[in-house]
Amino acid sequence: MSIRVVLATHNQHKVDEFQKILGTRLPELEIVKYDGPEPIEDGVTFRENALIKARAAAAFTGLPAMADDSGLCVDVLNGAPGIFSARWAGHGKGDVANRNLLLDQLADVHDEHRGAAFACHIALVVPDARATPLEQTPFAFEEVAAGLWPGTLVREARGANGFGYDPVFVPHGYDVTAAELLPEQKNAISHRAIAFEGVIPLLRMSVIPN
Ligand code: IMP
Repeated sequence: MSIRVVLATHNQHKVDEFQKILGTRLPELEIVKYDGPEPIEDGVTFRENALIKARAAAAFTGLPAMADDSGLCVDVLNGAPGIFSARWAGHGKGDVANRNLLLDQLADVHDEHRGAAFACHIALVVPDARATPLEQTPFAFEEVAAGLWPGTLVREARGANGFGYDPVFVPHGYDVTAAELLPEQKNAISHRAIAFEGVIPLLRMSVIPN
């Protein structure tokens, strides 16, 4: 019997990625795409935004729900772009403009101060079947798994794989950028891989029957 968990995204690629990675470990899991109203993501941390999205999907569907939020945190910028990673150069500007702006901002920063980390938070929220709408907390379970992938920022984009800030990020222990890694190499070690690892026990304790 399959256990449906809704993923709070309209992006089918993300649904496929969650299904592939989590489904390999938890074969009873069926990830379904969320098709309801999108909440305002007005949290100020990855954790809060992931929870806002997962709670909205759980409340609307009545199903256990997951949501992720991720971005790049740069040491010398005190953690920025952080939750603003997708629109660092402005709404609708895109990946190339975002990372060019970042490289510009860091132009005078010496190599030893160019540390950064990708962060990924995955929230899991399980509705309480017995709760009434008047109750304050209609959720039986909510928890967030986090993954951090540390590295340094280079001065010029390199590599054709990946997306976002991958071409300017060299993970610790490597001398190639994340965009020069094969997708399967990146997927095995990234911030997302670490967060997935953390969400598996959460699914086991809250959604998957013993
Ligand atoms: P989202 O929360 O997955 O939509 O990610 C928000 C933004 O963070 C993306 O638009 C990227 O700019 C950046 N980002 C998140 N994960 C990655 C990654 O694995 N590589 C490069 N950029 C990333």
